[in-house]
Amino acid sequence: MASHIVGYPRMGPKRELKFALESFWDGKSSAEDLQKVSADLRSSIWKQMADAGIMHIPSNTFSYYDQVLDTTAMLGAVPPRYGWNGGEIGFGTYFSMARGNASVPAMEMTKWFDTNYHFIVPELGPDVKFSYASHKAVEEYKEAKALGVDTIPVLVGPVTYLLLSKPAKGVEKTFSLLSLLGKIIPIYKEVISELKAAGASWIQFDEPTLVMDLDSHKLQAFTDAYSQLESTLSGLNVLIETYFADVPAEAYKTLTSLKGVTAYGFDLVRGSKTLELIKSDFPKGKCLFAGLVDGRNIWANDLSASLSTLQALEGIVGKDHLVVSTSCSCLHTAVDLVNETKLDNEIKSWLAFAAQKILEVNALAKALAGHKDESFFSSNAAALASRKSSPRVTNEAVQKAAAALKGSDHRRATNVSARLDAQQKKLNLPVLPTTTIGSFPQTIELRRVRREYKAKKISEEEYVKAIKEEINKVVKLQEELDIDVLVHGEPERNDMVEYFGEQLSGFAFTVNGWVQSYGSRCVKPPIIYGDVSRPKPMTVFWSSAAQSMTARPMKGMLTGPVTILNWSFVRVDQPRSETTYQIALAIKDEVEDLEKAGINVIQIDEAALREGLPLRKSEQAHYLDWAVHSFRITNVGVKDTTQIHTHMCYSNFNDIIHSIIDMDADVITIENSRSDEKLLSVFREGVKYGAGIGPGVYDIHSPRIPSTEEIADRINKMLAVLETNILWVNPDCGLKTRKYAEVKPALSAMVAAAKQLRTQL
Ligand code: GLN
Ligand code: ZN
Repeated sequence: MASHIVGYPRMGPKRELKFALESFWDGKSSAEDLQKVSADLRSSIWKQMADAGIMHIPSNTFSYYDQVLDTTAMLGAVPPRYGWNGGEIGFGTYFSMARGNASVPAMEMTKWFDTNYHFIVPELGPDVKFSYASHKAVEEYKEAKALGVDTIPVLVGPVTYLLLSKPAKGVEKTFSLLSLLGKIIPIYKEVISELKAAGASWIQFDEPTLVMDLDSHKLQAFTDAYSQLESTLSGLNVLIETYFADVPAEAYKTLTSLKGVTAYGFDLVRGSKTLELIKSDFPKGKCLFAGLVDGRNIWANDLSASLSTLQALEGIVGKDHLVVSTSCSCLHTAVDLVNETKLDNEIKSWLAFAAQKILEVNALAKALAGHKDESFFSSNAAALASRKSSPRVTNEAVQKAAAALKGSDHRRATNVSARLDAQQKKLNLPVLPTTTIGSFPQTIELRRVRREYKAKKISEEEYVKAIKEEINKVVKLQEELDIDVLVHGEPERNDMVEYFGEQLSGFAFTVNGWVQSYGSRCVKPPIIYGDVSRPKPMTVFWSSAAQSMTARPMKGMLTGPVTILNWSFVRVDQPRSETTYQIALAIKDEVEDLEKAGINVIQIDEAALREGLPLRKSEQAHYLDWAVHSFRITNVGVKDTTQIHTHMCYSNFNDIIHSIIDMDADVITIENSRSDEKLLSVFREGVKYGAGIGPGVYDIHSPRIPSTEEIADRINKMLAVLETNILWVNPDCGLKTRKYAEVKPALSAMVAAAKQLRTQL
């Protein structure tokens, strides 16, 4: 009856860790308070798994911030600027690396594979002096043991750790990160030895980079690493855990030949090809951890289908060598359905959050061992059947319309330069036109108004009045600043996806379905459970109101279909592309209604388009194809004179530049402030870009106020590689999280810089 959980959410069912962290950071509570909340969370998770009957319960998957940063701490790889002087790393150094302190900024953060979880990127150079500086893994193991739970300690594997690192400043171009392998292995050996001494019989190394396209040099590093660890690992059962995709054939060969390793974990939800590899060649006597319960989504498992898969696998690897598991850490899903008091009961029956996934894993393991819990299986089957046949899932008209889109092309009839000419005649903008990305600061007062309206504490009339006043304030401010294309400021929106999801059919919302994004930050993705349609206009009322307040062009502001998809929990009973096409049709209706209402500039944000890019190159073209197609569908029906903007929140788009051009927007604004050179180099290398483009001229993520000179300087750098008549001047992203005291002077400097340069052209 072997069962295993790869990892578990840390935040707690009601985000207890978030509040404890933030209160500690604000100096409102002590380190002991934070440690107490954390220990309670860990112990309740371990007990929950033990009570459910899980055999391999993970430890060291808790983190005060991030598991990669924990590994950096374990290895003592603190960048010198944090002034750490050796010894065990405490909260001071740890949180300085994570969040920065008064004198030193934080380390870089980036996305964990294709999830929305962000990790702290290790910075490693030839001079790092590694030392065993955080005993967290061993302490957690012992802590669980003292509670009567024998766990499988989890470490980020040494090769994945190095492959996710970046070379320290100054050695970017020359340094091979993998050359550090020989230096970190001794620390791993110390950790392993201590775990053994503490009584551990199993150990888990997470090596998810094995699912990427790795060259033979990188694969060799895995062989080297585990050969070096072999003697220390002897006497332990060693699991190498992979997740998020298939393990490619070459990597599979490497993985299954690793020395000292006794078990392999595979993601069988996202990695259906792995199943074929296992069937064709699985090493004798080794254990297979079959990740059948999805750690990244919120749907109840199809238990009977999973059981058949397990039975087939049992025939290959043998009864004693098969372990039922989750596809990856449950870190990427919501915590516990028990706290969803407002979800409709039918929809609720279709779902399984982390706590429910534990029960599913256990039920599967028991069934495999001949102790099938018939009532658990039959209520699962009933829930699946209800989902399949529920009228709320299916909207035939939508399905037909979406199906009709596939295979056909959707492009605006006129090419972009002719459109830009037509638009210019109507809009009559100066060269280097100025604009912003959409949101303006969200004050406490504003959040209160929205909350009270939702709770029905203020009337619709009062709410509309308050929001209109806010819009008017934002419009007047932009006019005073002399910005050319205005925005309404998005005061009615709490979140750019949730706002649309709430108005579309086919979406459900949770109260506590939080997922960690980074540090203490969590997001609450909507659940797309059915065919998507738009019962009525969503933004026209506010955009028209805003346009009526000014003679200048007012941008209509929408979230694009790919971003809505990538920031939601998506249904798995149809391809993601199909769901995206449905959303695209809903947004298309909105675009056309905005146009009819007299809105001449419409921005369709695709902030998360790149985030959905599959991990493996072989799958990327297909994704980009339907993602870009979905975007074009939203605005294929507008007149030449209607100007379509899009916005993207990342600067790293060099590899997908041709897809971005293929989106065929009239203007794209893009995050740029932290990597001018990277972005502009694409154009320097000769990529032709004929549409309008606004690389952000200052960083909105920082409270720092830029000067006119520095903005002018950056615009000049852009002018050196881009045509004058296509360049726009705008900040990096929305201003939602900033204060007016920062936004006013920053925008004023931005407009001044644009004006100054106009006189010199
Ligand atoms: N229009 C949104 C805003 O300004 C865009 C946010 C984003 O790109 N993440 O807030
Ligand atoms: Zn953005």
